[in-house]
Amino acid sequence: MGKKSGNDAGWNLENSYMRLPDFLYKKTNPTPVQSPGLVIFNKKLGVSLGLHAEDLINETGVELLAGNRIPEGSIPIAQSYAGHQFGHFTMLGDGRAVLLGEQITPENERFDIQLKGAGRTPYSRGGDGRAALGPMLREYIISEAMHGLGIPTSRSLAVVTTGESIIRENELPGAILTRAADSHLRVGTFQYAANWGSTEDLRALADYTLERHFSDGDYGENRYLYLLQKVMERQAALVAKWQQAGFIHGVMNTDNMTISGETIDYGPCAFMDTYHQNTVFSSIDIDGRYAYGNQPHIAGWNLARFAESLLPLLHENEEQALELAQEAISAFSEMFRFHWMKGMRAKLGIFNEEKKDIALVETLLRMMQKHQADYTNTFLALTFNWQENFELGSSPEFKEWYQLWQERLARQEEAEASSRQLMRDSNPAVIPRNHQVEAALSAAVEDGDYHVMERLLHILSDPYAHTDEQSKFAAPPVKTSIPYRTYCGT
Ligand code: AMP
Ligand code: MG
Repeated sequence: MGKKSGNDAGWNLENSYMRLPDFLYKKTNPTPVQSPGLVIFNKKLGVSLGLHAEDLINETGVELLAGNRIPEGSIPIAQSYAGHQFGHFTMLGDGRAVLLGEQITPENERFDIQLKGAGRTPYSRGGDGRAALGPMLREYIISEAMHGLGIPTSRSLAVVTTGESIIRENELPGAILTRAADSHLRVGTFQYAANWGSTEDLRALADYTLERHFSDGDYGENRYLYLLQKVMERQAALVAKWQQAGFIHGVMNTDNMTISGETIDYGPCAFMDTYHQNTVFSSIDIDGRYAYGNQPHIAGWNLARFAESLLPLLHENEEQALELAQEAISAFSEMFRFHWMKGMRAKLGIFNEEKKDIALVETLLRMMQKHQADYTNTFLALTFNWQENFELGSSPEFKEWYQLWQERLARQEEAEASSRQLMRDSNPAVIPRNHQVEAALSAAVEDGDYHVMERLLHILSDPYAHTDEQSKFAAPPVKTSIPYRTYCGT
């Protein structure tokens, strides 16, 4: 096991997860690596976590980020969970991630600090417990971009290389990502507890979750029904934000769906350029289960699995429990639609509600799909009245729609300037486009040049700033017949 490290870096760790029934985790130390090297560190995030950058980017600090040393107060664990992967139920657990503990920040917030790629754990099955540099940098870029977009997400604190190669299809440089999250509780954690624990174990997990994530609520008569409804609400809000930004998670298995309502586990995810409901990037998603347009439906499906795992807590009578669960779950599509429409109205500069708004939005999306319009840039064109580089703008049906939209805007009290401001604040100048992410990754991984990635991170950090520099990153890729493909678990 690694050496214990002093507390210079500002660690203030607790291990509340270990109060849970012990079949929910296993004490697991990171496996030390040969020669750790820091390649990127998120100073701003470090400060907000109460960590001192200067003590983490020096030699001792980097050993910590590589798992060669354990910070004071840490009791490293791997968490148990199950999950429906592409619809099939499986036993999983952290196979290559180790939770160092929960950092209590100066603002008294609690964040899981996890090392991803830290070596084998009791849940590794056939895997090596390691991660490759490219995918860890990719998670760093996309998760930080999501944060910039205002979408709840796990954050990335650092990536270190291990000095060791890992074997995939080729030999690749190994790396470890340090990530921070509200928690790593998943729908799959509840599925695991429901399958292998007693009702009391499940209750302990649910009570822990309520205290950790929903402590400010008035639980009402049935606190576990409250938990179900709150998780549904957070997921409805989250997936609505994904849809509005054109984000495709790619692997919405129940083990990758959080209870906190944050996006986690960036594997084959990517942002859509050309708008199409059926867009899929993941190489293994042959049937398009996790296609862009299917994400809200899958969220509902996953939440139904969550509800099933809560049944013994919802009511002691099985039938009544099922009734409560079904009634709650049946509200999800409406919940989603509410959050989605709220965001889509904002993207169109609309403040108040009219019944016909949904038709206005859907007509626009249908035209975008038909004319193969770029999703992000269509909204920018509307926001800034672009005449150039806006192909959709010249179609007669668009002109008709535009007229209806203008009439709609005129039917609200707010001045045009307020509408424009709302649109600026709701339509990002940039998203992490696949060709730019790939350029940043290839410079970093192949040439050891991190400037491209740092510039991209800077551009993506405040996508609603609408600077000149950002406009250079707004161009969609040149259209080709070869679809962009992403890969899982690499
Ligand atoms: P993911 O698709 O990244 O959500 O991973 C699914 C499951 O596979 C999780 O339980 C991971 O911990 C596990 N896993 C992924 N890659 C590895 C690896 N290289 N070694 C061991 N377990 C892994
Ligand atoms: Mg996962």
